[in-house]
Amino acid sequence: MSNKYIGAHTSAAGGVFNAPINAKAIGAQAFALFTKNQRQWVAKDLDTKTIDRFKKELEDACIESKHVLPHDSYLINLGHPELEKREKSLNAFVDEVERCELLGLDRLNFHPGSFLKKISEEECLDAIAESMNFTLDKTQGVSLVMENTAGQGSNLGWKFEHLAHIIDKIEDKSRVGVCIDTCHMFTAGYDIRTKETYDVSMAEFGNIVGFEYLMGMHLNDSKPDLGSHVDRHESIGKGKIGLDAFRFIMNDERMNDIPLILETIDDSIWKQEIELLYSLED
Ligand SMILES: [Zn+2]
Ligand SMILES: [Zn+2]
Repeated sequence: MSNKYIGAHTSAAGGVFNAPINAKAIGAQAFALFTKNQRQWVAKDLDTKTIDRFKKELEDACIESKHVLPHDSYLINLGHPELEKREKSLNAFVDEVERCELLGLDRLNFHPGSFLKKISEEECLDAIAESMNFTLDKTQGVSLVMENTAGQGSNLGWKFEHLAHIIDKIEDKSRVGVCIDTCHMFTAGYDIRTKETYDVSMAEFGNIVGFEYLMGMHLNDSKPDLGSHVDRHESIGKGKIGLDAFRFIMNDERMNDIPLILETIDDSIWKQEIELLYSLED
């Protein structure tokens, strides 16, 4: 039995309970989902029937709640330079965490935020940490899992130092985590293509952030080149990263027991990609 829990960001169209159903259909041992429409600010509350059905389907798919990595709305920017807009984001974020709580999930994946070239990077990172502390205070049982970004535009979180800066300011460190997206890592400038570069980049993550915070990964190959700061995913083994990096991950015990999620571009081959990844284990 493998210690790796691989899945994909499956569709929750028609109801959140469809995500575990879709995950099971592709042989996934983990999955990600949006618990509401990711392009809208408000959503209707989750009702008891929907929650119960979600839990039943999760059990039916034999997937543990810690292997589910919900992703928040793309609209949210916890570091927004304008206070009013940051507050709007913050309210929506608290709602996202509460939705996870209701579904019995223990982590929420989000992109740290963008400074929009209006405040300094440091002010933005501090604002993100403040937003996270506020959220942690208002909620319980759900860890806030920051995703490293490609550093496209003014998105922060592409440098491991950004993530460390935020973690340093979090009051309850038992409820903060990190999700490494391999495409973002690579286009942010961290090479993982050979065993040597993989070891160096991962050691850098370990030293600056710490593997104790790693609560999930997004497994994506990359269309753009190393250090391009462009966020465009590719199917596993078909991009600029190549298959070897995923072999290193599949044989790295630091990635045991966390959700490993495909966000690759061709969902029609997710089942094969999951099989391919498992075949890379020694
Ligand atoms: Zn991602
Ligand atoms: Zn991405």
